[in-house]
Amino acid sequence: MATRLNSHLSDKQIELLKDKLLGEAERIKNNFQQKKQEYENTSLTGAKDEVDSANDSILLAADMRFSNRESLYFKKIMKTLSKMESDQYGMCDECGDPITFSRLIARPTSEMCILCKEESEREESQNFFERRSKSLGQVMSVSGS
Ligand SMILES: [Zn+2]
Repeated sequence: MATRLNSHLSDKQIELLKDKLLGEAERIKNNFQQKKQEYENTSLTGAKDEVDSANDSILLAADMRFSNRESLYFKKIMKTLSKMESDQYGMCDECGDPITFSRLIARPTSEMCILCKEESEREESQNFFERRSKSLGQVMSVSGS
């Protein structure tokens, strides 16, 4: 039997993570359904004439109300679930190192190991700092590349 790439995770652990992701996806879907329902209930009282166009705007409004963050998270969950079908799941996108189970169970959609995550966050704040200093007209030398 060939060894999986993400062999640091047992089948049981992967199963656990999958359950957690499916639970999250379900929660977001229910949330969305509920919001849509609320919209339909409130607008039924007013617009009986133009049902079709009302329906469209209900959907649109519900869609917009479904916060961007939630919908992004939902997409990420779906992406992660499909990744689970391969043995790429649980491996760092940056360096290819295994991501620890304790990190994954805390955040099953993690795509980077803790070291790379910290690194990318450092870079982000560094870019911010560089932009800032440029706008102030100062020359900063940032070494390391
Ligand atoms: Zn990494």
